[in-house]
Amino acid sequence: KDTYGIKNWGNGYFDISPDGEVVIKNPKDASSSGLSLVEIIEGLRDRDLHMPALLRIENIIDHSISNLNDSFRKIIERLGYQGSYRGVFPIKVNQQAQIVEEIAQFGERYSYGFEVGSKPEMIAALSTLDNNSDQMLICNGYKDQEFIDLALQAVKLGTRCFVVIEALSELPIIIERSKALGIEPLIGVRAKMMTKVGGHWNSTSGDRSVFGLSASQIIQVVDVLRDNDMLHCLQLLHCHLGSQIPNIRDIRGGVSEACRYYADLCSEGASMNYIDLGGGLAVDYTGAHSQESQSRNYSLDEYCEDVVETVMSTLDGYGISHPTIVTESGRATVAYSSILLFNILDVARFEPVEIRTSGGEGHELLDNLRSIFDYLKPARVQECFNDAHYYRDEVRELFKRGQLGLRIRAEAENLFLKVLQDIKSLLLKMDEIPKDLEGFDESLADIYYGNFSLFQSLPDSWAIDQLFPVMPVHRLNEVPGRRAVLADITCDCDGKIDRFIATDREYSPTLPVHSLKESEEYYMGVFLVGAYQETLGDLHNLFGDTNVASIRLHDGGGYEFVKEIHGDTIEDVLGYVEYQPWEMKLRYRNKLEAAVNEGRISARERQDMMNTFNASMQGYTYYEKDHLL
Ligand code: PLP
Repeated sequence: KDTYGIKNWGNGYFDISPDGEVVIKNPKDASSSGLSLVEIIEGLRDRDLHMPALLRIENIIDHSISNLNDSFRKIIERLGYQGSYRGVFPIKVNQQAQIVEEIAQFGERYSYGFEVGSKPEMIAALSTLDNNSDQMLICNGYKDQEFIDLALQAVKLGTRCFVVIEALSELPIIIERSKALGIEPLIGVRAKMMTKVGGHWNSTSGDRSVFGLSASQIIQVVDVLRDNDMLHCLQLLHCHLGSQIPNIRDIRGGVSEACRYYADLCSEGASMNYIDLGGGLAVDYTGAHSQESQSRNYSLDEYCEDVVETVMSTLDGYGISHPTIVTESGRATVAYSSILLFNILDVARFEPVEIRTSGGEGHELLDNLRSIFDYLKPARVQECFNDAHYYRDEVRELFKRGQLGLRIRAEAENLFLKVLQDIKSLLLKMDEIPKDLEGFDESLADIYYGNFSLFQSLPDSWAIDQLFPVMPVHRLNEVPGRRAVLADITCDCDGKIDRFIATDREYSPTLPVHSLKESEEYYMGVFLVGAYQETLGDLHNLFGDTNVASIRLHDGGGYEFVKEIHGDTIEDVLGYVEYQPWEMKLRYRNKLEAAVNEGRISARERQDMMNTFNASMQGYTYYEKDHLL
């Protein structure tokens, strides 16, 4: 049984082996048995890359780029579309050098380019792209003179680099700098879209969108360019409806609107050649194949077909020749390629524990709690539930007032949990559950403490309740007999995952998990985390970047660790917040030396303390222990 829905959201990249481990499949070889994540974790451990670790799978990026390009090519050929397709990767979605370099490498055969939204992203793209005039470089974002100079110089070098006007103030700079440098710019305009889309990121369209030019501003751009004899430089229309558009109908609507802008720019006399439809191609995080915000109700082929078909039919209506279609798919290109792996450190269970009872010193409220077991039956289950809460709360109140001791309170809370566990068992046997008790068993779920920081590694889970597939990566041929929420190791009450993918409702507040075993690690994976998570993550509680490793599966079997980056050390993260590690060591040394002089510690103890301090500074920011399997 596919408890975690891996077949729905795994996109064929992940599966479960007969011995119950999650495996990564080589996308080029669907019949391969796959590479076990447990084997990879062992390989990481042997390389001193301890948990938590981010695993990147190169083959998946490679395959996503091929899929996107091949799908557009196939549809273009089938529909007889006269233009071509050029994809660009929006660097903001994952700016990590390894990812950007891999995308450039794997995308080369498709002349896959980049979209940038800032000067640092521009510099990253310029230094990564070859001088291949077929690759596009799309410059969005607010641009100053320096940004525009970089773009003009890229054109001179032979890159098809478009400056997309996002704000009218950019236009005089473009004109002035292009004259000063003697380089004709390639210009695009970004239109403010009216088509409203569903999902989380829908504020990119509509009147109040902060992006793009209104119809009247676009006309101003056209007139100014014409007056400067530069209208032929305007060749690209840019629009972006929002990220993660779950409903294909919204995409069709947006493309139609874009085509109207495009057609009228042609009739205004611009030398239009490119229609850039931005991002928005969604990832089916839940695997529901629906129009819910974390899913999508279309396939990649349907997306490509709808885009090409809408552009073609709309522009044919105006007798306009077919432009190059550009898309800026980020999420769909990289989401699948990264997995966050971590171990579980501890568990809190909401069950009675063994304690020594108060012996002679009883209490009436304890008797009341015990008496509940005498009338606990289906007809009175709600009453028992209420009584248990009432007596438990009374005990807490008396404790607060100093009228009853800690040991009695502990005994009462134990009895309370015992009643709730018995109620839970009883409810399982009942056909009709009282309304107030529906879902009450979720409140008794365990808390599994994971060795990761939600804020560093899964910021969208915290900030916008994004659902990512989460599951244990082994023991999957054992029934997961417990339910849990996952807490991270930050000291923050928001540092937990309590929304998991469910097939029968919007989300489940708990995840099925296995009981922990003595002396055996329990490893979990959070999947589809390759888009947006890495650079949006923050240093909450000073947990730094995790270890990262990239692997490549070989065709015909086998794999290799192609790259690795050790995560931040404590010294690194302290440096990020302006501490001077050398000064900290010196100050600590002086403090210890003073303690030696005052006779409070020996010189040997001083050195041991100094060694501990120095070793910690060089260590990982996460929980470290001997990694057993
Ligand atoms: N292009 C632009 C201008 C964007 O703002 C974004 C992100 O919102 C993207 C492309 C990437 O979108 P997605 O990740 O949905 O493909």
